[in-house]
Amino acid sequence: MDWSQGQPLRVGDMFLGLYQPSPETTGFWEGVKRHELLLKVCNSCGKLHHPRRILCSGCGESGLGWTRSSGKGKVYAFSEIHRSAGVFSKSTPYVVGIAELEEGVHLFSRFMARNNADVQIDRPVDVDFQVLEQGFLLPVFKLREE
Ligand SMILES: [Zn+2]
Repeated sequence: MDWSQGQPLRVGDMFLGLYQPSPETTGFWEGVKRHELLLKVCNSCGKLHHPRRILCSGCGESGLGWTRSSGKGKVYAFSEIHRSAGVFSKSTPYVVGIAELEEGVHLFSRFMARNNADVQIDRPVDVDFQVLEQGFLLPVFKLREE
């Protein structure tokens, strides 16, 4: 199952079904299915944006298309999760946070490292695509090994 076909609708641990991706993110989830990280790009001025963006913050245009990110970036912020609910409780401790892509866009995601203590601000990361706890393919960021 992939999120381009619908996203899980949950209340606590109860799974109520799948809802369709919002129109502004459908292209993003189609990219995930192909293992491509896509960003929004303004058709007028070329500014890059988060995948959910519907208006350009540079020029105000609503004509946003898709462009492929390099998938390279760095750790902008992170938090190690030690207590979690539902399916996530089996994965603790794990690290979530914000990746800053080299294109300047910030994405909230999971950070993957052999050692959680190695996740530090400004450490280089690369996108990867993994099936996580809920059974969906998602973009995550792996520490670039040096
Ligand atoms: Zn623009």
